[in-house]
Amino acid sequence: MRKYGKVYIVGAGPGCGGLISVRGLAVLKQADCVLYDKLIGKDLPAYISPDAEMIYVGKDQTKQQFINDIIVKKAKKHKIIVRLKGGDPTIFGRATEEFNMLLEENIDFEIIPGITAASAAAASAGISLTDRNTASSVTFVTGQTLDGKMIKIDFKSLVRLGGTIVFYMAVAKMKQICQKLIQAGLDGNTNAIVIANATLANQKIIFASLSDIAGECERQGIEPPAVLIVGKKCRSMLRDKPLFGKKILITRDSAGNAEFACKLAASGACAIECPTFEIQDLTGRREFLNVIDKIKNFDWVFFTSPTGVRLFFKAIHKLKKDGRVFSDSKIGCIGSETASTLEEHGMIADFVPDEFTTKSLAKEFAAKYKPKGKNILFLRSGLAEEFEIAGAKVQTVAVYTARKVRTEKTDFSATSRQVGTSVEMTNMDWITFASSFAVKCFFEKFNADDLKDIKIASIGPVTSETLKKFGVEPSVEAKEHTIDGLIREIERNINHE
Ligand code: SAH
Repeated sequence: MRKYGKVYIVGAGPGCGGLISVRGLAVLKQADCVLYDKLIGKDLPAYISPDAEMIYVGKDQTKQQFINDIIVKKAKKHKIIVRLKGGDPTIFGRATEEFNMLLEENIDFEIIPGITAASAAAASAGISLTDRNTASSVTFVTGQTLDGKMIKIDFKSLVRLGGTIVFYMAVAKMKQICQKLIQAGLDGNTNAIVIANATLANQKIIFASLSDIAGECERQGIEPPAVLIVGKKCRSMLRDKPLFGKKILITRDSAGNAEFACKLAASGACAIECPTFEIQDLTGRREFLNVIDKIKNFDWVFFTSPTGVRLFFKAIHKLKKDGRVFSDSKIGCIGSETASTLEEHGMIADFVPDEFTTKSLAKEFAAKYKPKGKNILFLRSGLAEEFEIAGAKVQTVAVYTARKVRTEKTDFSATSRQVGTSVEMTNMDWITFASSFAVKCFFEKFNADDLKDIKIASIGPVTSETLKKFGVEPSVEAKEHTIDGLIREIERNINHE
């Protein structure tokens, strides 16, 4: 019998979970035990089995020897052990110590690369790290030593190379680094870019000259994690993006915010998270469990949101069931995002209404199908209004509900678990609302006067109505009532400014 399981050293990417590799994610899904670092995307845990043992081994709290000991201990106990590291494990990841230990202990291991911070940051800022004509090399340099001292590196050689230079761990010693580069002969006007929290919602990008960048970062309160990129031709190709540099407050639940934030970051915006509510899974309740075995008796089953679809499949998988519970029942999805989430589970919706309101859904459905005498099940949020379809027997079962979270006025989490940034409302360019419930929760703490001079984006007419009740007139309302539709409308508005 084998003494140990296999250890996978997986690069998680720089923060946004979407940047882990397909292979990394596949292994993560199968893991019995996950040992993870500080800078790991908060959307990744959703993919990890609820039965997996999760152990935090961030270096700020844990000594390397201790981490090594835990890996050995867990490799004895489990079959698939994932050591999840920020970015790429082989770049400033202190991975050598772990590789050596695994070799010494004769533990089978595999390294699965990840996207390193330099690549992610360059992509976020819209710059190329190399250029056929002007930068034939890129050098990754650590900005400080292990014990926080200035690095001893030959700056003259670095400058002589003439390529792009990326400094990791760059915040603490930025001033000295820039001075040394200038002393070594690099022009103070050379382009310098700092990207903090790359790919995360509180991402900040600062463009300046080499002489000015350290002062600018200090003025703007840049905190780690950040990289400093220096290069003659490092110019952003994203600066023309409509949302570039815009600060957008997002007010969904934390999982919804994470997804929204990634989309905003791709459009060049900086998203600030203000989770107003949290989702409460109701699939453990008798009402839900009872209906599972009867699903095939319904002529139609409707999902009303992507969250409903996700929680539904998670719950039936836990019961060792799958899409076959539907047998011949037809499936309706309210909203294109709900339909695409269903597709992720291998099923295609039979009906997706053009409009999302309860009334128009019933009308459109009746026009297309004969609802009379049909058994219809709505798997929906406990907060949604009742659905009625004339002539049909409608049953509704709540898959989840939502409850308010307390939001302090200046205590927005700015996405990260690791950086407790406070953001004043006055810094915002936009506030977005993706549901009536989010509006109601938000205005428990804020009032219309807090939002003066800030533009408001609403996902649709129902949300807009609720906003108006709180004395707020939305600046834009999404034509397609999805997050993509909401972003498009903000972009359109900015284009017309
Ligand atoms: N193995 C990691 C690097 C770990 S060292 C990788 O390949 O990316 C930690 C440093 O990485 C931070 O100090 C910072 O310079 C950089 N870093 C990590 N995540 C980052 C992020 N989201 N944005 C900017 N820099 C980041």
